[in-house]
Amino acid sequence: MALRESPLLDLLRFDRAEGTIRWKHRRMLLLDADAMGLLRRELIDTLGLAATKRILTRFGYFCGYRDALTSKELLQWKDEHELWELGPWLLAQEGIQVVRVLHSRIDAANNIFEVDAEWFNSYEAEQHRQHIEPISDSPVCWTLTGYASGHSSAVFGREVLYYEKECLGKGDKRCFVVGILADDKTEEARNLKALYKLERIETELSRLVVSLEQNARELQSERERAGSLEIQVAHLQEAITQGAGTDELVGSHPKFRHLIAEVARVAPTNTTVLICGETGTGKELVARAIHARSDRKNQTMVTVNCAALPHALVESELFGHERGAFTGALARKLGRFEIANGGTIFLDEVGELSLETQAKLLRVLQEGEFQRLGGTHTIRVDVRAITATNRRLDELVAEGKFRSDLYYRLNVFPITVPSLTDRPDDIPLLANYFVQRFKSEFGKNISRIDRASMKALMGYRWPGNIRELEHVIERAVLISEDPVLRIPSLSGIAHQPASSGNSKPHSHVGRVRTLAEAEREHISEVVQRTNGLIAGKGGAAEVLGVPPSTLRNRMKKLGIKSQRPS
Ligand SMILES: [Zn+2]
Repeated sequence: MALRESPLLDLLRFDRAEGTIRWKHRRMLLLDADAMGLLRRELIDTLGLAATKRILTRFGYFCGYRDALTSKELLQWKDEHELWELGPWLLAQEGIQVVRVLHSRIDAANNIFEVDAEWFNSYEAEQHRQHIEPISDSPVCWTLTGYASGHSSAVFGREVLYYEKECLGKGDKRCFVVGILADDKTEEARNLKALYKLERIETELSRLVVSLEQNARELQSERERAGSLEIQVAHLQEAITQGAGTDELVGSHPKFRHLIAEVARVAPTNTTVLICGETGTGKELVARAIHARSDRKNQTMVTVNCAALPHALVESELFGHERGAFTGALARKLGRFEIANGGTIFLDEVGELSLETQAKLLRVLQEGEFQRLGGTHTIRVDVRAITATNRRLDELVAEGKFRSDLYYRLNVFPITVPSLTDRPDDIPLLANYFVQRFKSEFGKNISRIDRASMKALMGYRWPGNIRELEHVIERAVLISEDPVLRIPSLSGIAHQPASSGNSKPHSHVGRVRTLAEAEREHISEVVQRTNGLIAGKGGAAEVLGVPPSTLRNRMKKLGIKSQRPS
């Protein structure tokens, strides 16, 4: 077939009235080559070189593929080779470039495809040099190699790919292109396939989704593992801070025996217990006794002193928070309810909770669920609640400071712990109990309490109840050097009635002071003695034999404030 006489272009229809050029049914365009060059510039600036190369290569591929299909439709052709020859010819007709085929072997039946060709006047190389860079270090005729690939693939019925060995855009005199079968085993073919990969976006997306889901699953199981470790650590911390639970309920007064009976009755149930009583009467001991006699005894009992926490932190302490829930929430934190799951939570000084927190507490107690601060998913827990207060909750309800619904929810089984003055007969019993405990703790040899001292103990008012008695005995045992324990003047120690609910209960009872605590006390004492003077002659640093800067650092670390600005 003589290409120049091909009727192909006779089928081009210019309709000026309609403003169209049609090639049979296809609408064609005459485009300014510079517009294409500028588009290329924009694409590179926006998407980068690699992505632009892929896009333009595929754009060329579509053009070539469609041209081949149109030719197939419109013409009689002898074989693939003849049809294939229309491609280069069309490129010249369309003003794109001129092609000279150097070698071609195209035989579909035997699966052979070999083409070497020269291109001259590539409009694309021209545009690239004009708008992107004068000399590129790699071939630039992306659309045109794409065109050739699309055209040959459509003709040959199998994937064919072209690449440039030389390019006008690189400063060569011509573009030199090679066409090969895509399933060629060469490395060139492998690289090209990545470039031409005509993945459908859905395939690409679903692959992405699968890998994301996989990642999410791994992350989730990772999180669960971390979560269970976190809870184990929290449980251990509970156990450490609360000692081994050696404390026992000691007493024989009828009021006290009644209390013991109540504990025994309610312990095995799941009932919420409200423990009332003056400060220092041992409400936490009662809570521990209930937990220890319940089915949950092998689980953790978590203690929260609601009065010891700033209002702003109570909710995060109880329910936990997600990372970033508020300023300073740098990491996720488990709430006490979450840590207590399966066990018991003991909320001391429950009367101190704000109305807002009371509402959330009510929800946990009723529904067994809550959300971490800043969290969206609901956490379910199975926790038995024991609460305590030294205030009259019914009065707080009347004053509108405590929700009545919560009060009724907590007050299911109220237990009142008698004060020490309500059971004076128990004072010798308790005093001896504490002597036994502290003498072994401090390694002292003490056989009994001096008679006069015991009388003083029994005559004292004990505003701080058992806790105060415990402190008195602890101090006496500590300083005693005699088998008969004498109690120093009670009025001397009564200046510290542990009356405020804000004081940390059992802060140093039942365990040895930590090094930091001993250090803190020692430094505080010295600083007090030097009237807050740190540096210089007679200053605390000199007394302690450390440089002033070291002392200041220690004080800062231990939270000691000096009396005067240093
Ligand atoms: Zn080129």
